Amino acid sequence: MRGGPSDRFGRHLKDLRISVTDRCNFRCRYCMPREVFGNDFPFLERGGIMSFEEIDRLAGIFIDLGVEKIRLTGGEPLLRKNLADLVSMLSMRDVEIAMTTNGVLLPRHAPALSAAGLDRVTVSLDAIDESTFASITDSGHTVASVIAGIEAAESVGLGPIKINTVVKKNLNEDEILDLVERFSNRNIAIRFIEYMDVGTTNGWSMGEVVTAEEIRAIIGINEQIAPDKKSDVAKRYRLAKGGEVGIISSVTEPFCGDCTRARLSADGRLFTCLFSSKGTDLLTMMRDGLTDVEIAEAIEMTWGNREDRYSELRSEQVTASNRIEMSFIGG
Ligand code: SAM
Ligand code: SF4
Ligand code: SF4
Repeated sequence: MRGGPSDRFGRHLKDLRISVTDRCNFRCRYCMPREVFGNDFPFLERGGIMSFEEIDRLAGIFIDLGVEKIRLTGGEPLLRKNLADLVSMLSMRDVEIAMTTNGVLLPRHAPALSAAGLDRVTVSLDAIDESTFASITDSGHTVASVIAGIEAAESVGLGPIKINTVVKKNLNEDEILDLVERFSNRNIAIRFIEYMDVGTTNGWSMGEVVTAEEIRAIIGINEQIAPDKKSDVAKRYRLAKGGEVGIISSVTEPFCGDCTRARLSADGRLFTCLFSSKGTDLLTMMRDGLTDVEIAEAIEMTWGNREDRYSELRSEQVTASNRIEMSFIGG
């Protein structure tokens, strides 16, 4: 197996998440609260975001350095026009291509994305109940439209599909069992995610986290399944009645020790942690005419200096005021 450069803790660069836009058609309260991300929010200008050619060139450099998997994300990646063209370009390279999406635009785009070479999708869905979903996503979209998206993706072979559910106290704990019931018997892996303190706009507090232990107790699971890969973020559990669920316990059982993920924001900055406040500006390097070798050196240097393990240190830290937002850096 290939392995990219190693950071200060011996973690090799293997996964790259690329944000293709900082815009979204949802306003999830925990991610892009409408009062902050309103009409006058300064989203990136068109000229400030990476073109497909620029993304593809950077992806090629990352793959040569050892990246094995690329995940397209955002914001909402399906808002980026002609995204299938980017997938076609990336699919010429030796890399697995996945995407994380809120799902509502999948019925329109799944066939072209699959034909272009997208391997699979993860769809975010925090509730089955329409009114709970509406209050979380604050967007006018419906659960039914997300489910239509999941079915569209399934029908064109973009599976095995994963579903991501962020669980927040007093908001959607009572959706957990309904979601398990609805999806665990199909060839779909549902993963519950502890609500995290990313960014600075969601007013996170530890009291709002439904812990992995609480989620396990609600579902009544204990039997853990061995991970496929060391860098898998979800712990998998077998359900007594068959099927499985995953739990991503970033807050209470952090997994920084196995974190091999880099993130590229839509404006071409390389971030080595979800909780970073500063990125290495690869897009400017490219536009200034640096060669692939020079850009590769900059990536290796950034990764080589990486000491991030925010989630393991969380309890000792004061809240940073300049952390990058999840909608900007990609989930
Ligand atoms: N818009 C796409 C979507 O929602 O799938 C892709 C981008 S979104 C930022 C990626 C993932 O991050 C989603 O599954 C979302 O639920 C998750 N997310 C956003 N804010 C979060 C937070 N504060 N804690 C945990 N997960 C979060
Ligand atoms: Fe948009 Fe995804 Fe953030 Fe929700 S979680 S606001 S869908 S980027
Ligand atoms: Fe990786 Fe940073 Fe998350 Fe730790 S806190 S798992 S280093 S992204």
